[in-house]
Amino acid sequence: MNISHIEHLGIAVENLEESIKYYEGVLGLKCYAVEEVVDQKVKTAFFMVGSTKIELLESTSPDGPIGKFIEKKGPGMHHLAFAVKDTDEALKTAEERGVQLIDKVSRKGAEGLSIGFLHPKSTHGVLTELCSKK
Ligand code: ZN
Repeated sequence: MNISHIEHLGIAVENLEESIKYYEGVLGLKCYAVEEVVDQKVKTAFFMVGSTKIELLESTSPDGPIGKFIEKKGPGMHHLAFAVKDTDEALKTAEERGVQLIDKVSRKGAEGLSIGFLHPKSTHGVLTELCSKK
């Protein structure tokens, strides 16, 4: 799989602006980017913590993946993202090792990264994202 580090933690929030206030005002982190990912129906905000990011996700539509997640489980930890060398290769390896995939091939995520998700049924309950620069 060639995992180098935890690229980011994805956290589902109800209100991006209010959440940013907590991460900046209480934790003292700095939001360095806000970006909308239209096909995921989310607005994201990024914070750097060492070499790991925190990605806050606010749904732009109740029928988007984050909207549905919050409706079912409420706001909170949503996914864990590992940095890999090549997302497509890592997805293939995961599938060969018996993991159920959400994405058979990578797609474009925030920050222009190639991303792909493993199904939480195969990962002991943690929605797992793989991402790479290519
Ligand atoms: Zn993510």
